[in-house]
Amino acid sequence: MRLTVIGCSGSFPGPDSPSSCYLLEAEGFRLVIDMGNGALGVLQRHAELFGIDAICVSHLHADHCIDVGSYWIARQFAPDGPKPPIPVYGPSGTAARIKPVLGPGSVPLEYTPFDFCDLAVGELEIGPFRVATDHMNHPLETFGFRVEHAGWRVAYSADTGESGELVRLAEGVDLMLCEASYLEGPDNAQNVHLTARQAGEHAARAGVGRLVLTHLVPWNDQQLSLSEAAQTYHGPLCLASSGLVLGP
Ligand SMILES: [Zn+2]
Repeated sequence: MRLTVIGCSGSFPGPDSPSSCYLLEAEGFRLVIDMGNGALGVLQRHAELFGIDAICVSHLHADHCIDVGSYWIARQFAPDGPKPPIPVYGPSGTAARIKPVLGPGSVPLEYTPFDFCDLAVGELEIGPFRVATDHMNHPLETFGFRVEHAGWRVAYSADTGESGELVRLAEGVDLMLCEASYLEGPDNAQNVHLTARQAGEHAARAGVGRLVLTHLVPWNDQQLSLSEAAQTYHGPLCLASSGLVLGP
């Protein structure tokens, strides 16, 4: 498996990265997890525009799903005709969230570029990947993911506050992409996001092989995020960045 960070900016795009988006490739199959604001542009540096085979959406906040609407337009108005549907796995209501983004009159009733599939807690196969999901601790239905191919396992927290489910989902994985939206401070909301220190705690409890901090909000000092996570997680640790390629 080859994992490319397309976007890792938290909550809104930053100067150097789109919002959340990750490209997973194996056996010629391309799975995109999350497609936040700006992701479709940078994604084209790393994959052919119509070379995506499936999409997973963790939750319906704009910074995780809104460019599914951009991709709808691209597939609908492709120069050689509308592209056939590909699966989009997401929380219940994903289609209803995406369609209005396109605006009135832009979508013929008979065409859809996506087969929308509701996610549930459990396991499923997407192409060559084994995918496990669980609910995260966020104000709307949000799925975290564990993806396995050929014995290599990666966990992705999506957006979450402190979560035992995340620790279980990530237990023993080779790589954990964990959100670190907050720095330590007295005013952080509860049950929404993790601090970098909490991301490190979750990774340590799960015993992951490597921790990559992501969902990095542009106004935070990223080096401070790294040093706060290093207080609680003592294994290999780095910051996500757009274009970063990870794999076994
Ligand atoms: Zn969110």
